[in-house]
Amino acid sequence: MAKEITHILSTDVLVVGGGIAGLTAAIRAKELGVDVILACKAMAGRSGASVFIGGDYNHYPLETDLDEAVKTAIRRSEYIDDQEMVAMIVRRARDIISKSIERWGVEYLKRGEKFRGSFYQGVPGICFKGGGPGLMGTVRTEAERVGVKIMDRITACELLTSDGKHSTKGSVVGTVGFDVRSGEFHVFKAKAVVLATGNWTIQVPYSEYDGSITGDGQGMAFRAGAEMRKMEQIAFQVKPAHGSVCNAEIGKIDHGLQQTVDKDGKEIRYLADKDKKYVRGKSVLPAIKAIKEGRGVYASYRRGSAGDFLDLMDIAPYATRALAAAGYEIPKDLVLNQISFYGSGQGGGLKVNKNMETSIPGLFAAGSVTERMYSSVQGITGALITGWIAADGAVRYAGEVSAPEVHGDQIDRLKSLIYGPLRVKDGVTYLQLRRKIRRIFEQGLGPGTRNKENLDKAVEEIEGIKKENLPRLMARDTHELMMANGNRNILDYMYLVAKAALMRTESRGAHLRTDYPERDDENWMKWVVAKMEDGEIRFWTEDIPMPILKPGE
Ligand SMILES: Cc1cc2nc3c(=O)[nH]c(=O)nc-3n(C[C@H](O)[C@H](O)[C@H](O)COP(=O)(O)OP(=O)(O)OC[C@H]3O[C@@H](n4cnc5c(N)ncnc54)[C@H](O)[C@@H]3O)c2cc1C
Repeated sequence: MAKEITHILSTDVLVVGGGIAGLTAAIRAKELGVDVILACKAMAGRSGASVFIGGDYNHYPLETDLDEAVKTAIRRSEYIDDQEMVAMIVRRARDIISKSIERWGVEYLKRGEKFRGSFYQGVPGICFKGGGPGLMGTVRTEAERVGVKIMDRITACELLTSDGKHSTKGSVVGTVGFDVRSGEFHVFKAKAVVLATGNWTIQVPYSEYDGSITGDGQGMAFRAGAEMRKMEQIAFQVKPAHGSVCNAEIGKIDHGLQQTVDKDGKEIRYLADKDKKYVRGKSVLPAIKAIKEGRGVYASYRRGSAGDFLDLMDIAPYATRALAAAGYEIPKDLVLNQISFYGSGQGGGLKVNKNMETSIPGLFAAGSVTERMYSSVQGITGALITGWIAADGAVRYAGEVSAPEVHGDQIDRLKSLIYGPLRVKDGVTYLQLRRKIRRIFEQGLGPGTRNKENLDKAVEEIEGIKKENLPRLMARDTHELMMANGNRNILDYMYLVAKAALMRTESRGAHLRTDYPERDDENWMKWVVAKMEDGEIRFWTEDIPMPILKPGE
């Protein structure tokens, strides 16, 4: 069978993932003079959250008060972000943006001489011309121009390690995966690996973007022994019920035009947090209440004009087209919304240091696959900057190590594991399993459901599925094989979310417990950390340093 064919490739830096973080890392590393391969599960520049964005990003114009921006971001995260990391991202933003995205020729939307954009967390945003597709098309073209070897439709499944073990006590020396069309096996030997596989989500109708985002980077790094932090943090948003995209945000072009309302057009206001600031994690609670009371939740564009809506075609094309396809007449009609899992917003993930290096040598990470200790900086900005920094770190590391040695027995073992679902007959399909996963998610991990009883039940059910269903997971073709591997990662991810959520006996950021509804600064200025060690998962807490602000300041 075609899948038996094995390709072996070597490179200095392997980037996994073709969103803004991955493409930025690849361009930067290539410009620093090393060999770079970028492997993407779907098509680089056309997949992941980056292409579905609402359309603008924080660009930190020169007049921005950076000290104030740092403080605002820390407060908005409810003090859970790493303050030094936030400061580094904000302070390096202008320089990196001017050397990257602005130089690559990405265009911005203007009306007359005026740039369009909203304010995000108090910092001015600016809209991309052509929205996510416009942005990402230009970035991919730049990657091709500088000579990055882009390999589309290659899904990375597991990491190779210098000691041939999971969990490793050595370093990362490459990955293995397969071509999602031909099924052919690929072995990548690399001096350094940058994971940029985005966040995770559960597919439509409870998700926000394409099916290629299944927490693969988090899953493979966790199994290899990387430390994971603040996993209990997953965000939710209010979004259209008819599609997998966000609301077409008129707020992006003229702040405040779009409103969240009930069926009678009465505004649903966000909840303020303890310090009376807007916090995204809690913003969904009033919407949940409105749904429970039968008032429903809708997006209203009535403050805008038909002309404003035409502008949206240019900044959020996917979202705008989805509204049109669903038959909405904008700005007259109210758009039915639901509560949705917003994987790429606030969240946890791979623990990284200021060089975006994970706890395993040779393994770097950027963008939404990381713990995002900068969760209140806008997504594209954070992913771009961390992609750039990860490339600097990976190139430096690659210059210090010799050609990687891989272990044949580890490759054989992983190959057998990865192709396992193709050998199963009369098992469960990835879709059947995903339905179960989604139910557990909704009943135990979602907003308004997290408490000890539900979380304990979720842990038990996830353990049950891992034991009983995973070995019976079957795939009838290579597409299903890719999704089946994704299920394994989603389950590992959800398990960590549930266990970390049980440990954090308070509500903070995007983590909201019904049995502990208040933020507890006295006991919980801590991060929850998890790691796989010799087949056991260990959890512990680390104190959050507060060099810039203390809670309430
Ligand atoms: C609906 C929506 C609207 C948003 N709006 C905005 C906005 O207006 N402004 C803003 O700044 N941010 C916005 N964000 C957030 C922003 O999109 C993300 O923070 C950012 O795009 C993350 O980039 P990334 O490169 O880390 O991940 P992604 O863009 O998700 O890219 C991940 C890549 O990894 C690939 N991949 C995954 N698994 C594998 C694997 N196993 N092997 C190989 N490749 C793999 C995927 O195919 C994809 O190419 C929005 C997010 C969503 C979902």
